[in-house]
Amino acid sequence: MSLPIVVDAPDNYEDPLDLMDEIDQLKKDRDATILAHYYVDGEIQDIADFTGDSLQLARDATRVETDTIVFSGVHFMAESTKIMNPEKTVLIPDMLAGCSLAESCPADQLGAFQEQLRESGREFDTVAYINTSAAVKSLCDWIVTSGNAREIIDRVPTGREILFVPDQHLGRYLQEVTGRPMILWPGSCMVHEVFSVQDLIRARKNNPGSQVIAHPECPQNILELSDFIGGTEKMRRHVMAISEPSTFLVATEATMIHAFQKSAPQHAFLPIPGIMASTGETCACNRCPHMERNSLRKVRDCLRDGQPEIVWQDYFERARAVLEKSLLE
Ligand code: SF4
Repeated sequence: MSLPIVVDAPDNYEDPLDLMDEIDQLKKDRDATILAHYYVDGEIQDIADFTGDSLQLARDATRVETDTIVFSGVHFMAESTKIMNPEKTVLIPDMLAGCSLAESCPADQLGAFQEQLRESGREFDTVAYINTSAAVKSLCDWIVTSGNAREIIDRVPTGREILFVPDQHLGRYLQEVTGRPMILWPGSCMVHEVFSVQDLIRARKNNPGSQVIAHPECPQNILELSDFIGGTEKMRRHVMAISEPSTFLVATEATMIHAFQKSAPQHAFLPIPGIMASTGETCACNRCPHMERNSLRKVRDCLRDGQPEIVWQDYFERARAVLEKSLLE
């Protein structure tokens, strides 16, 4: 008779259910609300008070009544939450949770480029995707999310050029759908950049009748093969609106499937794999390594310790004016 194999839990193992109970108690003790982006682990989304995309969470954050907000996502999102809620304590589970897209547009380089354009007599508005640092937002005229970009671009006076930062793929897509030519900053997201066209074609062939749904941060070759293009919230609403059980091939951060499955359990969702630029091999790079820095344990720790905290900076005031004009009006 073979004996069962017993695997010891690692020394630092903590039971997720115990962590959830602890988080629940700490939330009450600290008078806190948890906001979680659709791209963080499903177990964090399950204990959050609000889940959503950047636009939805930015709006939800202004309705929070507790003294403290824990933002489980990445740094620029927690910064935006602080900007919109200066009087509240905003905590982030991991201060190192950055964003490759935000980092592709440093504020000093953007400022220098804007100066060059002005010196050459160009009249333009700078439109920034919300995936930018607060320092960059403070240099811009408008902030867009994938959910409201078309509507905001229509508000830019037609006589002015548009400098769109930092996502070249989203910018190119917006040029197409709005018909407004744009000067595009050459930034991109490391997750959406790597979807493999070959794997997408293979997945479609293996799943006849399936629909490809893609985020507009994906490169043009992926968008051209997609049946539906939209930000995360638009995609969620799209799948919810279809009652007939269907298969969806998903070209966005793979954790988003958790929110899709909760909202539309009648469907099957398959992630499109990424492809490693260095080796050309299929990989799991459809998960965002920055979002993956969030964990239940870090949510517990930041609630318990009251840090890491997003601290108010002088340039937040100017960023706030731009965010309010763009997201709330
Ligand atoms: S998925 Fe891309 S754009 Fe979103 S946080 Fe990660 S690196 Fe940034």
